Amino acid sequence: MNESYKEMIEKARTGQVEMEEDCQHLALIQDVTPSKTEGCEDCLKIGDKWVHLRMCLICGKVGCCDNSKNKHASRHNKETGHALICSFEPSEEWIWCYEDEAMIWAS
Ligand SMILES: [Zn+2]
Ligand SMILES: [Zn+2]
Ligand SMILES: [Zn+2]
Repeated sequence: MNESYKEMIEKARTGQVEMEEDCQHLALIQDVTPSKTEGCEDCLKIGDKWVHLRMCLICGKVGCCDNSKNKHASRHNKETGHALICSFEPSEEWIWCYEDEAMIWAS
């Protein structure tokens, strides 16, 4: 299981980040628990496939990336307004803000 998101959340909440645009949404980040650890929650429900996984930093919903057919992470943002996701891939450590269209890296 990918645990790197925990450190990223901690850094984002304490301002230890670098970002492209000044994102004011980091204060909204919650101490989330992933809704699914084995894959995209909504793809698993319908038996579909995904490419990469993202996790909502407001509620913990795990969804698939925009290279995936169903784009569940973006869909979740449109449906809920939850602005921040992080990568849920073990090798990637970044946060994306949909509102500011900004990449944020833990530093
Ligand atoms: Zn933002
Ligand atoms: Zn999906
Ligand atoms: Zn969410």
